[in-house]
Amino acid sequence: MLTRADLEALDATDPLACHRDAFTLPGGVIYLDGNSLGPLPRATPSRLAEVAEQDWGDGLIRSWNRAGWIDLPAKVGDKIARLIGAAPGEVIVTDSTSVNLFKALAGALRLAGDRRIILTEAENFPTDLYMMQGLVEWLGARHAVRAVAAEDIGGALDDDTAVLALTHVNYRSGAMHDMAALTRRCHERGALALWDLSHSAGAMPLDLAGADVDLAVGCGYKYLNGGPGAPAFLYVARRHHDSFRQPLSGWLGHADPFAFEGTYRPAPGIARGLTGTPPILSLAALEVGVDLLLSCDLTEARKKSMRLTDCFVQLVEERCGGHDLLLLSPRAAGGRGSQVSFRHPAGYPVMQSLIARGVIGDFRAPDILRFGLAPLYLRYVDVWDAVSALSDVLATRVWDRPEYRVRAAVT
Ligand SMILES: *Cc1c(COP(=O)(O)O)cnc(C)c1O
Repeated sequence: MLTRADLEALDATDPLACHRDAFTLPGGVIYLDGNSLGPLPRATPSRLAEVAEQDWGDGLIRSWNRAGWIDLPAKVGDKIARLIGAAPGEVIVTDSTSVNLFKALAGALRLAGDRRIILTEAENFPTDLYMMQGLVEWLGARHAVRAVAAEDIGGALDDDTAVLALTHVNYRSGAMHDMAALTRRCHERGALALWDLSHSAGAMPLDLAGADVDLAVGCGYKYLNGGPGAPAFLYVARRHHDSFRQPLSGWLGHADPFAFEGTYRPAPGIARGLTGTPPILSLAALEVGVDLLLSCDLTEARKKSMRLTDCFVQLVEERCGGHDLLLLSPRAAGGRGSQVSFRHPAGYPVMQSLIARGVIGDFRAPDILRFGLAPLYLRYVDVWDAVSALSDVLATRVWDRPEYRVRAAVT
């Protein structure tokens, strides 16, 4: 049996403990939702004030050059490249994850020639599925989306597969795909591999170059701590740059935007992934979050995240038995991302009653309690205290109060 003292001992020797102070975390809260919205880095408000007051207020339009605004999508992209094992010039920050998926999928279909199928997992995040469906519908009858169960993906790859588009870590279960192995199988069948890194970038070291990934997208507001609605990123392997084209051919992806030519010519390199004017304030906030991650050892972060999730699972099983909780995440830490999910028949009210006690996780339909355990600011004792709250909520059935059943717009 684990004790709170065991967890205190783990905190005492945690090499990442120093990073907790880099975040502003409200008192009385245990934040287990950094996989949905990363918390505020302490350095972000002053950076935002500086960009607003100096660069915007004083610099005005001159800041596009003087403050380097125009280079920010590529500059922050190069920093994200270091987090995900890509080379400089392969990542650009732009648009949302959904929009980047559309651009990357369309680009992949064009690279794939006559092949017709976008292969994915039926349990993929809905926006990923919706963007595939929307693109295929837009293109007419020739292309199709094929969504299969995770265990059937390898067998479903065939000579008609244009691109395998998967999310590395599943948003609901936390199950993690073997990116290198599946990418290799894609290439053996002549297909491209497109990975959505929304639930893994910033939570663990990634190696897109080592895995030979073709295209990738990812989210700025989850483990990158870029703030609500932070812009997302797009990665295209350098070997595809000359032939990669994307359909949202806006002026900032043009080879010479300020020539104001009447005809689109794609910029060389990853800049052709850009569309319109970048959101500078959001990009400035994202850069702070990314810089913070660059100052951390992500290999240590992954080790801690596996340990945190292991402790969470063990404590829930030791202390919350007999309450209908069913582990949904893979039991082996190596097979999951930085989250743990449990099913419970009253998942929604149980999570609401936990949130009312300051333990913030989230609920995913139909019955999933999801707990994100981000390693940079979470302490091992937080895991103990969160499970204590869960155990208490279940034992007292406080969740059964009517106020906890009221559904909010965002769960
Ligand atoms: C969070 C997330 C998104 C978010 O897409 P937005 O366009 O930012 O709303 C997309 N895909 C996956 C897998 C995600 O986890």
